[in-house]
Amino acid sequence: MKKNDIFPLTITDMGVDGEGIGKYEGMTFFVKDALIGDKILARAVKLKKHYGYGRVEKIVEASPYRVEPLCPLHRRCGGCQIQALSYEEQLQFKERKVRNNLMRIGGFSEEELEAVMEPIVGMENPYRYRNKAQFPVGYDKNGEPVAGFYAARTHCIIPVEDCLLGVPENKVILDVVKDWMKAYQIPAYDESEGSGLIRHILIRYGFTTREIMVCLVINGDSLPAGQELVERLKKIPGMTSISYNVNCERTNVILGKSTHCIWGMPYITDYIHLRNTEDFSVTDTAIAYHISPQSFYQVNPLQTEKLYSTALEYAGLTGKESVWDLYCGIGTISLFLSRKAKQVYGVEIVPQAIEDAKSNAKLNGITNTEFFVGKAEEVLPAFYEKSEAEDEASSKMRHPDVIVVDPPRKGCDEHCLSTMLAMRPERIVYVSCDSATLARDLRILVDGGYELRRARAFDQFAHSGHVECVTLLQRKNT
Ligand code: SAH
Repeated sequence: MKKNDIFPLTITDMGVDGEGIGKYEGMTFFVKDALIGDKILARAVKLKKHYGYGRVEKIVEASPYRVEPLCPLHRRCGGCQIQALSYEEQLQFKERKVRNNLMRIGGFSEEELEAVMEPIVGMENPYRYRNKAQFPVGYDKNGEPVAGFYAARTHCIIPVEDCLLGVPENKVILDVVKDWMKAYQIPAYDESEGSGLIRHILIRYGFTTREIMVCLVINGDSLPAGQELVERLKKIPGMTSISYNVNCERTNVILGKSTHCIWGMPYITDYIHLRNTEDFSVTDTAIAYHISPQSFYQVNPLQTEKLYSTALEYAGLTGKESVWDLYCGIGTISLFLSRKAKQVYGVEIVPQAIEDAKSNAKLNGITNTEFFVGKAEEVLPAFYEKSEAEDEASSKMRHPDVIVVDPPRKGCDEHCLSTMLAMRPERIVYVSCDSATLARDLRILVDGGYELRRARAFDQFAHSGHVECVTLLQRKNT
């Protein structure tokens, strides 16, 4: 086989980025825009020893799961990867992926998984779910300002102004900002030259409060005609916070360090509700969060409520427990847990997130949480290995009833896992955004004396290849 060869390929699997995967003469091929069930003619675009990358030359027989995507720009835009796959099949694909990883990497048997896995939790309406959007700004070929998204794997801006994953308010805001740029001749940023001013438009929307935040990321220290922008934006119902963020670095990182509020509040408020895990209806327990432009906040609030409510249910709290919440971010899970636990200890590596966690605890009048900045694999062992005389509180910290973890994609550090085992909590709740590292870590915990009791996948990112999971481990009585 050589580059540009054309060959038949049946797509039998999909990768995390939604690329189709098929085998031809012992080689594995990854093909963008090909879906499970497609029979295609592929063109080889890049070849390695045992695998290669292909392009769809022709769809010979379309997958039965193919649908007409709602977004006409979905193939060009880098945002959605599997919009052409029916939503039911997206969910099946994600559930299968979790199951396969738990079997292949975690070494769990089909029967074991049959007994513990609950059906994947999807969205009723898998569109307009995102509460945050960041639009790069540039010029189109007529020299008019455009805002949109980057094309897959490039920095060309495609004018996707009414992205169907975001709220309809986004388009209204983008139109106002572009008109203002034209009226006051405010230049868009030019990435190749490092010149111009407006780099990105960041919009956040509180799903429960309907509060809106707009933050312009600029390549400069001040915003000319800022008051004129405010006058236009504040007419939009729900507008709560208008700011600019200074980023003069030539980097792909969107936000710079300093943010200046020019109208309204420096943050918006939103609530996350606890849900009844039987039917995911809302209970009356809600936690309020202040969200500033820089805060980390889950982007799919509806699914987050379902995921965290399930994590809380798995934790099995009665009010007496002490709990560690590792990788706690702004304390979203910790604050939920605190309502049903005696004491919650959160650990997170980003200092600003811990500041947010502390102020969110205060905002909700929560007094039984304590937050620590640092790596989970350092903070936890430091507490465990402390050999000083013990009072009851520190003994509870060394031997908590429950440990919850929600690590980034690379999973937990080994030293973190071995310390968790040494602490011997009754239950471990593992929330994961990568089922491969989840499977690897679960194997270590199960071999260390725990039993996998429950596992459930959640679709947080419809139309992408990503899937979240929550699992419950119970200590074996030995
Ligand atoms: N549970 C949080 C966020 C989880 S995302 C929420 O509900 O919002 C994973 C978090 O782990 C991120 O906030 C990241 O900053 C943090 N993190 C990454 N590596 C870490 C480490 N080694 N120790 C502690 N926290 C870490």
